[in-house]
Amino acid sequence: MASIRDIMDIMDYGPSPEASGEVRAWLRGHAGGIGHFIDGAFTKPKAPLADVLNPATDEVIARLSHAGAAEVDRAVAAARAAQPGWAALGGHARARYLYAIARHIQKRERFLAVLETMDNGKTIRETRDIDVPLVARHFYHHAGWAELVESEFPGMGPVGVCGQVIPWNFPLLMLSWKVAPALAAGNTVVLKPADLTPLTAQAFAEICAEVGLPKGVLNIVQGGAETGALVTGHKGVDKVAFTGSTAVGRAIREQTAGSGKKLTLELGGKSPYVVFEDADLHGAVEGVVDAIWFNQGEVCCAGSRILVQESVAARFFDLLRARLQTLRVGDPLDKSTDVGAIVSHRQLTRIRDLVASGVADGAVLHSADVDLPATGSFCAPGFFTGTAPAHRVSQEEIFGPIATTLTFRTPGEAVELANDTRYGLAASVWSQDIDRAISVASGIKAGVVWINGTNMFDAGAAFGGMRESGSGREGAREGLAEYLAPGARPKGSPRPAPGLVPVAAPQGDGVADGIDVTAKLYIGGKQARADGGQSYTVRDASGAGMGQAALANRKDVRNAVEAAAKAGGWGGVTAHNRAQVLYYLAENLAQRAEEFAALLARATGATPRSARAEVEAAIARTFWYAAQADKVDGAVHATKSRHVTLAVNEPWGVMGLVAPDEAPLLSMLSLMLPPLAMGNRVVVVASQSHPLIAARFMQVVETSDLPAGAVNILTGARDELAEVLALHDEVAALWYCGDAAGVGRVERASSGNLKAVWTDGGQSRDWVRDGQGREWLLRARQVKTIWLPYGE
Ligand code: NAD
Repeated sequence: MASIRDIMDIMDYGPSPEASGEVRAWLRGHAGGIGHFIDGAFTKPKAPLADVLNPATDEVIARLSHAGAAEVDRAVAAARAAQPGWAALGGHARARYLYAIARHIQKRERFLAVLETMDNGKTIRETRDIDVPLVARHFYHHAGWAELVESEFPGMGPVGVCGQVIPWNFPLLMLSWKVAPALAAGNTVVLKPADLTPLTAQAFAEICAEVGLPKGVLNIVQGGAETGALVTGHKGVDKVAFTGSTAVGRAIREQTAGSGKKLTLELGGKSPYVVFEDADLHGAVEGVVDAIWFNQGEVCCAGSRILVQESVAARFFDLLRARLQTLRVGDPLDKSTDVGAIVSHRQLTRIRDLVASGVADGAVLHSADVDLPATGSFCAPGFFTGTAPAHRVSQEEIFGPIATTLTFRTPGEAVELANDTRYGLAASVWSQDIDRAISVASGIKAGVVWINGTNMFDAGAAFGGMRESGSGREGAREGLAEYLAPGARPKGSPRPAPGLVPVAAPQGDGVADGIDVTAKLYIGGKQARADGGQSYTVRDASGAGMGQAALANRKDVRNAVEAAAKAGGWGGVTAHNRAQVLYYLAENLAQRAEEFAALLARATGATPRSARAEVEAAIARTFWYAAQADKVDGAVHATKSRHVTLAVNEPWGVMGLVAPDEAPLLSMLSLMLPPLAMGNRVVVVASQSHPLIAARFMQVVETSDLPAGAVNILTGARDELAEVLALHDEVAALWYCGDAAGVGRVERASSGNLKAVWTDGGQSRDWVRDGQGREWLLRARQVKTIWLPYGE
């Protein structure tokens, strides 16, 4: 044995294993297999049981039942039966349960940390100091929300039964992110953990049983992809919340299309880690340890693409290589291990294949010079130099402890490279210049940006992605809102498909009273003829022809989207300016109120009085959204000390809006105004049956100081145009108010770029009474969380 003097000479670490006796005893107690937790009871494990391995040793530590349709049905039925009672308990009673869960987690921190480490392969340092404390914090925070939800979200209520599916990289933490807000808001849950890491969910169910959570409120069904699909596709589920890969997220978007389920997706990432020449380089190197070598790089928001300013790149890479050699890789239960085991041999093979592709593409791999344990699935951490943006390793998630690197010269170039990905989950920006750091943070398309830091999480700060990293947020007020729905609005009737199917107007299709209206489209600030040179006949309420409207085609949609994409300046003008423009729009509409009322009455058959009321409502609504333009504030969230955590509202970018036939002026404005107030550019598909109102409205837009491209208006076959918008990658969000079949079609078509889709379920509504409110504004923006450190 080495003497103290020897140790002082070599300063080497000795082994420091965490005790695992308690967990091993628990595992022996479950040697018969792990079943499900349904309706407050643990089911008997049922063959065939699948092995659950400790990835650090390849030892079988448990055997798992996989739920089939019968078990999932039972779990959903239990959740359904329990939901009204759970909601009716009230916020305070629910808060007591969540508080008890948080307390029990804290009492078992060590046990849960060791169990998670043995199940997943992640180091005990991380499960003990990061995962489990964050889990407890999540339940405490949401015990608070349960208490406050009724007063803080008036008029909102639970969504119902939530089907939740989580991945293996942070098993208990992802469970807490899903379960805590759902229960706080009065929903009940059917959760499916990843089959590679099912054990802490079982331990969590035992905690819930222990605290006496009413039966059926939480149900856990174990299994793999098939079980997951049974949960997300179940008819009895009202909301699906998924965390996992983008490919599966896309499949779930398709599966749930048209089902009326509310959906949130937290998907993959390829997050940039941007280091400027004025950064504290040693700090930034230490940050890389937490960005990509943390959790073996199996982190959705890992800083996996390091972008370094050219002037300091050589020095930075030298420092990084030196730091890499000090990492300790091996037994995750050893308290001095930095990098543990990869979750499975399959995942390890995936990482190796991707790394081999990087080497084959000509990049240079710098690996930690470590002896990897002979058993288990271990990967030496490292990073590439010489990667190019087009390399597969620069674009695909490696989901292992290997970063790619690129250099840049200017801040503009850094932002461009940072955004050169289909993802948009997170980013880190390292610079001592606050102006630069904040302006780069605002230029990067990501849901979370850490300035001079990385991978910081807190229940009080929203987390979630943009673009193909998904939509929806977890944590904070924004995350809770995902588990709430507006109180029942008066039920409309199913909206019919528009009776009038536009066909190119046959030659000589007359206009009954001789008013010859050659309406156009409105694209890029100008009235434009339809690309196909075609129009369709528009009939008034009596069936007589009242004019012709332009028949837009795919090319027109593409042109409109392109014009909108170019009009990014609208998102950059001050909220005050946007308000001014909207007031001016109202003023111009008011001047033509009589004319619009007459047109509406003729087109829709409304009485003069109700047509006039629609115009008045449209003017009032425009005022209301002008007033709101500078009132929808962001927030400074209370998170860890020494951080100002900003929740900044950002427009989606280009939004597609598909208007219904009812109240054709008011409904179109009700859809357009909130996105415009929040700085989006819009491509509107106007009422198919009453397009001449939109055509006349183009003149109002033309005179209202809206920059070219901020508003684009198309007329034609609603569902055909809606589908082109849904398929278009440049359209970031789509609102569709058509019929039920169209809802399914646009939701399915939108799975390509995973755009955020909102529909009203194909139900008509009373637009005067029920077409305005703050929720429309909140839906017209996304939240970016920016973490700013302060202090020495
Ligand atoms: P995965 O998508 O393969 O699996 C995730 C979960 O979905 C598992 O429970 C799995 O059994 C289940 N599943 C698989 N196919 C399904 C289907 N067709 N229908 C329903 N459920 C199905 O992902 P993974 O390999 O477990 O996890 C890694 C991925 O998760 C990475 O891409 C990572 O970036 C992502 N991730 C994202 C976040 C985030 O918050 N954005 C957090 C953690 C992980």
